[in-house]
Amino acid sequence: MSSLTNEVKKSAYLAGFDLVCLSSAAPLAKDEARYKEWREKGYAADLQYMIREEPRRWVPQDLLPEARTVITLAVNFFSGARRMESKRGFGRVARYAWGKDYHEIVKARLEEWVKNLDILAGRSTKNKVLVDSGPLLERALAHQGGLGFVGKNTLIISRKLGSFIFLSEVLTDLELEPDILIEDEKKDACGACKECIADCPTGALVAPRQLDARKCIAYWTIENKGGIPEEMRSGIGDWIFGCDICQEVCPYNGLARQTQWKDLLPETGAGPYLSLLEVLSLKSDEEFKTRFKGMPIMRAKRVGLMRNACVVAANQKYTEAVGNLVSIVEREPDEMLKAHAEWALKQLS
Ligand code: SF4
Repeated sequence: MSSLTNEVKKSAYLAGFDLVCLSSAAPLAKDEARYKEWREKGYAADLQYMIREEPRRWVPQDLLPEARTVITLAVNFFSGARRMESKRGFGRVARYAWGKDYHEIVKARLEEWVKNLDILAGRSTKNKVLVDSGPLLERALAHQGGLGFVGKNTLIISRKLGSFIFLSEVLTDLELEPDILIEDEKKDACGACKECIADCPTGALVAPRQLDARKCIAYWTIENKGGIPEEMRSGIGDWIFGCDICQEVCPYNGLARQTQWKDLLPETGAGPYLSLLEVLSLKSDEEFKTRFKGMPIMRAKRVGLMRNACVVAANQKYTEAVGNLVSIVEREPDEMLKAHAEWALKQLS
């Protein structure tokens, strides 16, 4: 490994990133075909940011024409808590959203770290930092650089840390030595395991490494801004924001160890559960913003989070929520939310 490549990696680890790998910034030809096939099958649902093609997700140089290398950095967000059980009166939150919003936390550290590239290279470098913020096939890049393999649950799984990791990238004009996949890393590391496919309550993993967003709990409870189709509601169970089932059941997550990133711990944010009564009594967008400011939960918006709480209350047969649901039906101006509250009342009656 060249000394510059070595120094860049060392410096990223010193800055607290848990895993680092390097790939060439050349177009990802094979992955382009896979991505297009997935999108053409309609599996992207109406994730407009996934469907857009310009800049092209498989061409890193569309994002930075001078790019020669993609540095992929992973941040471990595992809090140390193992399997989370259901709790009556509470909705479960996906692990990535337990602490503060990682976009802000990781971006701040990455932007600080990138300044080192000029010092290490001894010249002014051109770089672009991405923290879930640019269209790029980041899992393909992470796999190509040997950071992990793509599991049947479609996620990048590190053989050191499991899959509770955030990916971020720096596109740079530095010519660094890309990591080469060793033979072992090319094999399907899932082997005969199919736990994630078998345990997904809504059948969203329609085949190994094929996620149909139209059946995914995370899609319906976070990305979707409209109503949740009735046929999806019972499968959502008690997930009020996102879902972790395909990761919780993955044996590789037995490798997960507690993060060193203090701002990602549950004490700093929403934590693993949200009270249904609290969510169902949110009165205004301002109240929602004050409660969830700086947390990933903001993405669902007040109406989306309350919609999800209606579904969870019905699924849990949580009759204690009847008063709150009636009040939504009587006072809520949003028709979609009102319809979910009416539906939940019917289920509870
Ligand atoms: Fe692969 Fe099994 Fe993990 Fe699914 S649960 S990603 S099949 S190892």
